[in-house]
Amino acid sequence: MTSCKICQRKHIDGSTYCDHHHTAYTNLEEGYKQWRYALGVSWVEYLEKITKTSGTGRWVKEVADDILSGL
Ligand SMILES: [Zn+2]
Repeated sequence: MTSCKICQRKHIDGSTYCDHHHTAYTNLEEGYKQWRYALGVSWVEYLEKITKTSGTGRWVKEVADDILSGL
């Protein structure tokens, strides 16, 4: 497996995602740290909210969808 789980770009070392999706994943994790304390939501609840928020970027939304579909 040499391509990103989501798109066909080459994945980066230490990740199953390409640089775009890996950056989006890192942003998701950082965002969750803040949401978890502020709202007390679970990781899955957070991801579901993210996918339904219109302001969410395309890369981030694709990563959230990918994680949710793999649960
Ligand atoms: Zn990708």
